[in-house]
Amino acid sequence: MIDKRDPGSTQGRWDQAKDLIDFFYHHPKAWLILDQSLKVLGANPAAERLLGVKAGTFAGRSFKEFFEGPQRAAFSQDLLELHGDSTDRNALTLMMADRGSLQVDIKGYRLTSGHLALSLLEREDGSKSRDFLHDRFDALQRLVKGSSLQEVLNGLVLDVESSNPAMICSILLMDPEGEHLLMGAAPSLPDFYNQAVHGIAIGEGQGSCGTAAARGERVIVENIQEHPYWRSYRDLAAKAGLAACWSEPIVSSKGAILGTFAIYHRTPTPPFREDLKAIKACAGIAAIAIEKNQALESLERSEERYALAMEALSCGIRDWDLITQRVQWNAAFYALFGYAKGDFKEAAWSFTRAVHPEEVEALEGSLKAAIEGQDLEWQYTYRFLRQSGDWAVVHEKALIRRDDKGRALRLIGVLEDVTEEHQLKKTLQLSQFAMKTVRDAIYWVRKDGRFVYVNDAAVRAVGYPRDELLTMSLSMIDPSITPEIWENLWVTLKKRGSIALESYTQMKDGGCFPVEVVANFMIFEDEEFAVGVVRDISDRRKIETEMKGYRQKLEKMIRLDPLTGIANRRALEERLEDEWRRALREDNSLSLLMIDIDRFKDFNDQFGHLEGDTMLLKLGQALKAGLGRAGDFVARYGGEEFVVLLPKTQGDQAMLVAESLRSKVEALLEPMTVSIGVSSTLTGSEALQPEGFTMARVKSEVRELIACADDALYKAKANGRNCIMMGERVDHSCAHQDPSPPKASAG
Ligand code: GH3
Ligand code: MG
Ligand code: MG
Repeated sequence: MIDKRDPGSTQGRWDQAKDLIDFFYHHPKAWLILDQSLKVLGANPAAERLLGVKAGTFAGRSFKEFFEGPQRAAFSQDLLELHGDSTDRNALTLMMADRGSLQVDIKGYRLTSGHLALSLLEREDGSKSRDFLHDRFDALQRLVKGSSLQEVLNGLVLDVESSNPAMICSILLMDPEGEHLLMGAAPSLPDFYNQAVHGIAIGEGQGSCGTAAARGERVIVENIQEHPYWRSYRDLAAKAGLAACWSEPIVSSKGAILGTFAIYHRTPTPPFREDLKAIKACAGIAAIAIEKNQALESLERSEERYALAMEALSCGIRDWDLITQRVQWNAAFYALFGYAKGDFKEAAWSFTRAVHPEEVEALEGSLKAAIEGQDLEWQYTYRFLRQSGDWAVVHEKALIRRDDKGRALRLIGVLEDVTEEHQLKKTLQLSQFAMKTVRDAIYWVRKDGRFVYVNDAAVRAVGYPRDELLTMSLSMIDPSITPEIWENLWVTLKKRGSIALESYTQMKDGGCFPVEVVANFMIFEDEEFAVGVVRDISDRRKIETEMKGYRQKLEKMIRLDPLTGIANRRALEERLEDEWRRALREDNSLSLLMIDIDRFKDFNDQFGHLEGDTMLLKLGQALKAGLGRAGDFVARYGGEEFVVLLPKTQGDQAMLVAESLRSKVEALLEPMTVSIGVSSTLTGSEALQPEGFTMARVKSEVRELIACADDALYKAKANGRNCIMMGERVDHSCAHQDPSPPKASAG
């Protein structure tokens, strides 16, 4: 066997054998030395690699093993018969150690020893069934299995090294700043070397790797000791026993430099074509491993950021993995509703136990429909039980993430406690509803008298379209509020806060109706307003007018005698007091006739009470008709007694009136007759001074006047009835004391 690792050198002279062995070892072509039975005596590393034979195990094997069945006999024969210089066999298919096939061109030489030297050249167009990546299948598998980056890189290095023991590999990684290379994986290099290389600057002349990383292209240094890139590191390399270094940049899928993949040799060595393929492939695998790791790291970082963000948010978050059915709630969710962390046990539907029972079914239905459908968003407002026992109103807005087929993967919901807004909204809706439906017109008026808001009732009341009304000012619907009045009103309103007044509203069609206004002063968002609630009081006014009529009628009624339709005693007394005062004020006499039907009892007895009533009615009418002056006043005093007041009438004149009435009754109402007592007030110096009248005094004077007439009537009755008599005042001499001559005696 020919092996470079068996030097046996002799110093001082050319050791031809050693050099030839060395030459054989390093030759880029695959070389085999066979004995006459085609058994392998020696193979260089290029041959081992080409045929996929483990280093150092080729010797002793029959080369015939590598021939394909049909060719085996013929080719064996060719080789065995080979004499002289050479033979060429092109496009020969060989079976490799792993039974893959290989297309080669072979040149053979019969050596003087009789042995055969074969050079094998892989055909450019020949397909190698087993390429380098295929060899690196282990490293790829580790990647897929999810080993750590360190494991993958170490594995890759060891893999390459085991496929060719002459190679020592190292992977360096770019630091985050992109300025230095850091140790990635170099399990076979000595620690001191690795430590020295760790952190090496990226740049021209920084060894093979620093330069490759700086340039972004492969750097081949066949002899470290002679190469300028290694000037600073020669000793280090020598100490580590390293003589050649080929470095391939590791480039990401986006073209960024991730690090370097380097192959060292312990003797100065140029790379073979095969080596270049290998180093490129390894750098490619390393790139995949590093990129995958970066992606994982950034995913971890982003998940960490997500977790942090989720905890930092002030709104509740529900993160629901729809595949695993696990739910996570953030801290704010628990804080918002007062629960202890973990109260919801992360089970998907466990939260519904805190949803209001009336809403659970609808909420579950809506949520399931959203998830099972194709929706990308879902939102819902529901009542959610606080730990304290009251209901919060929650608005949840969720995003649903789906895969390409539309399957829901994840639901992220943001829960907001909208209890207060909900309450406010409800109140607002209620007040808006009230504003709309209230029958009173509501106007918001600015300081300049212009409307800023009018409710529906106002629009209906005035008959202007809302838009038009909002361009108008108060005086246009209430002309009584002139600009000056409005100015005063505003000042008063601002001072008092609220005022009430009655006015009227003028409609678009010119019609008018009375209104009652309650105005309040308001400041809203820094602006001053008068808010008027205006009520149409037309109906009230109508009723008031009617009531006044009724009242007046009633007033009249209570002063009327229902049977005769003339004034009653109450009316008489009021009138008498008034007339008495006036008479004294005006220094006139007031006379009073007290009239009583003669023997009316007998009349009733004879004709019946109904007929008696008729007679009373007739008497009342007769007395009224018998009086000449407008100021004269007839009243039924009670029973069958009547009183006549005669203002501005002295006693003697009153006697004439009395006699006239008596005679008219006698003539008209036969057989009925009346007796009359007459009294008169005092005049001139005898009269009281008006300022001396007290209510009590007036009443007593009036009573006196009646008593005097009554007294005279009594006397007339005594005098035989159907006659008149003048009453006599106690405190002074009465003017007419003589009775008038009786027309008819009592019989
Ligand atoms: P004289 O006055 O002449 O002495 O006799 P007289 O019969 O009128 O006696 P007196 O004044 O005592 O009686 C009054 C009568 O008048 C008694 C009652 O029957 C009658 N009378 C009083 N009020 C009414 C009434 O409203 N309707 C009728 N039909 N009779 C009345
Ligand atoms: Mg009487
Ligand atoms: Mg009588």
